[in-house]
Amino acid sequence: MTDEPKLIDPFQRAITYLRVSVTDRCDFRCVYCMSEHMTFLPKKDLLTLEELDRLCSAFISQGVKKIRVTGGEPLVRRGIIGFFQAMSRHLDSGALSELTLTTNGSQLHKYAAELAAAGVKRVNISLDTLDEKKFAEITRWGRLAQVLKGIDAAQTAGLKVKINMVALKNFNDSELFDVVQWCAERGMDLTLIEVMPMGEDIGNEDRLGQYWSLDDVRTALAARYHLSPLPDSTGGPARYMRVMETGQRIGFITPLSHNFCESCNRVRLTCTGQLFQCLGQEGEFDLRKVLRDNPTEEAPVITALHEAITHKPKGHDFDYSRQSVSGKMTRHMSHTGG
Ligand code: SAM
Ligand code: SF4
Repeated sequence: MTDEPKLIDPFQRAITYLRVSVTDRCDFRCVYCMSEHMTFLPKKDLLTLEELDRLCSAFISQGVKKIRVTGGEPLVRRGIIGFFQAMSRHLDSGALSELTLTTNGSQLHKYAAELAAAGVKRVNISLDTLDEKKFAEITRWGRLAQVLKGIDAAQTAGLKVKINMVALKNFNDSELFDVVQWCAERGMDLTLIEVMPMGEDIGNEDRLGQYWSLDDVRTALAARYHLSPLPDSTGGPARYMRVMETGQRIGFITPLSHNFCESCNRVRLTCTGQLFQCLGQEGEFDLRKVLRDNPTEEAPVITALHEAITHKPKGHDFDYSRQSVSGKMTRHMSHTGG
């Protein structure tokens, strides 16, 4: 058997990483992600858990090594633990190297142990502030205490936790050092994310006003700590630094200030089975139709994956330069999966 990746896009990037959104629903309503009153997709449009398994397994058979489950909030999807348990067979066989998830943490106190038992080793938990009031403000429906309980449960279950924090000017800039310190004390890495111009119809956002360039964040951190650049090991959008004083890694996801597309090795599957080859472009490919047209045959599904990958674009067009937002997307992060 050969280890050669089998899904290669037109720019010679091997596709080894799949992000899967398993639901568009969420128990939070973060202001940069959703409107307060969302209309969610009808259930029949969603891939069933069996269909999700079929598609993920097809990707794995074609060289995908890492799967990240996301949403919406993945842990509010009914039966999702069964999906993780079923997917763990690919970890056991060695075909899949990593099964992981990004979550808002609200349900982790219930599920952390089962996730760990299914072979999940790491989890990304989104947390933009450690201030209870601000947390309620940014997530609208979230409660900080519940997420902190989820983080405790994850660590107790032996999951390695990374915190994702969207950098928001005039919101959490004053907390930067507190969050770095808090993560360090708990042995957690931290990834900072520039706010992206997604879902412009959500009504109350001011992307440009909220935008806090991670160049500025890095400058602020470098004034206090010794930062040592780390080589990229993920092929992903984050660039990493080691904080020498604490030993933790800090990641910077900078879709706006630095385009990272040239090394992109990932595609995204929505909960309706659309394959997005790029987070920031409209191009998509309907894999649900292929699945439903071929309920028992895998060969057409594999052919469709290869066809879809030939459409992966070179990169996205987000741009905040000249103080205006261009290249913005109409769809929400909760649809494509962040
Ligand atoms: N519900 C889960 C969570 O919040 O972690 C998973 C899905 S969420 C869409 C994935 C990530 O996208 C989160 O870290 C969230 O902060 C980030 N996100 C959502 N909207 C964003 C935006 N407009 N710009 C930057 N990051 C965003
Ligand atoms: Fe839900 Fe995550 Fe979007 Fe917040 S960022 S509304 S937790 S999907």
